[in-house]
Amino acid sequence: MISPWLLERVACPVCLERTGCADCGAKAPGHEACRQDYRRRAACPCGGPDKVRLAPEGEGLRCPCCGDLYPVERERGYVDLVPREDVGSVTQYADHEFHERLGATDASPVLSARVKADMMRRMLDPQPGETVLDLGCGAGKLALFAAADGVKAAGIDVAPFFLPRAAREVDLVLGDLRRLPFRKAAFPCAFSLDVLEHLDETGVKDVLVEARRALPSSGRLFVYTHAMESSRLARFQRAVNRLARRLGEAGLIDHEREAMRKSDHVNAIKSHEHFDALCASAGLVVTERRYYNVVFKAVVEDLLLRLYEQSRRRPAAPKDASVQTPRHAHDTPAARPPGRVLLAVAQALTWILKLDVVLFGGIRTGPFFGLLRPRA
Ligand SMILES: [Zn+2]
Ligand SMILES: [Zn+2]
Ligand SMILES: [Zn+2]
Repeated sequence: MISPWLLERVACPVCLERTGCADCGAKAPGHEACRQDYRRRAACPCGGPDKVRLAPEGEGLRCPCCGDLYPVERERGYVDLVPREDVGSVTQYADHEFHERLGATDASPVLSARVKADMMRRMLDPQPGETVLDLGCGAGKLALFAAADGVKAAGIDVAPFFLPRAAREVDLVLGDLRRLPFRKAAFPCAFSLDVLEHLDETGVKDVLVEARRALPSSGRLFVYTHAMESSRLARFQRAVNRLARRLGEAGLIDHEREAMRKSDHVNAIKSHEHFDALCASAGLVVTERRYYNVVFKAVVEDLLLRLYEQSRRRPAAPKDASVQTPRHAHDTPAARPPGRVLLAVAQALTWILKLDVVLFGGIRTGPFFGLLRPRA
């Protein structure tokens, strides 16, 4: 949907206002100042200039600085604020994700997706009536989850594969996280899950700088991503994954989806210190961090559930190895909403998966939940 409050908050993704401090005020005339000097101005320690407000024109919004017209897609439920200029390589993620999204339902997240969603809710603590922005919202499942608590949720993603219910119930923007199309301090809180690992280092820094500007000085940002390091517990996870891969080779488990999902990982964040440094350069500081050692998840979700899924998908797998079974995600039947028994089982398993955070959340490893705040 497109609420009046969303239209109050949007701005041109690529245009910065002329005014700023002595360092980030426009030096070149007109749109030249945006084009030539965007990154330096946007990352100014003062918080950078605001973004240029758009003027309604017909069915769209026109930027008075660059002159671009951005469509307001009322039927589809989103505003298209994708930069018309090149802002860096576009990931394949959208295409890959598309297959998964075909199977997405608007049911509440379960299993590890729920563990992450609950960590978001606990650490970010969005309040009823507060506006919260999902950076890289995908189909909009998590934005819907956040909105269930009376929070005013908005989502932004570069790919337009939104769930129909998300398009009806949360505010949606099509856009690039490296050029957030929002006015300064537009959202008191924001979150970003499973996104930063898909960007190169410049992209990660861009996203952090943009998020920083979209927050007020009292704002907060929750992220879930991973650094390229691992704890000793991760050895157990790797052993389980090796087993799963072998079972996959034997046709007993569908390993392809996970491989597809990860195939686009760039993994620019080398260590937690590296991430802290990227945050600092964007004017943010990590105030709380919990690690995600996936011990229970590896066994329950990556192994047992895959085996179960595969056994249901192909109850009478052909013995003849020469018979090829379809292995692509889009060949699998479309996901139906889960039944009541299945949902109860999934909820019970979710509680087991939560032990990974409860028991091992303090043990340093790559995947982590972070709460970030603007630096004083
Ligand atoms: Zn400045
Ligand atoms: Zn401009
Ligand atoms: Zn513009």
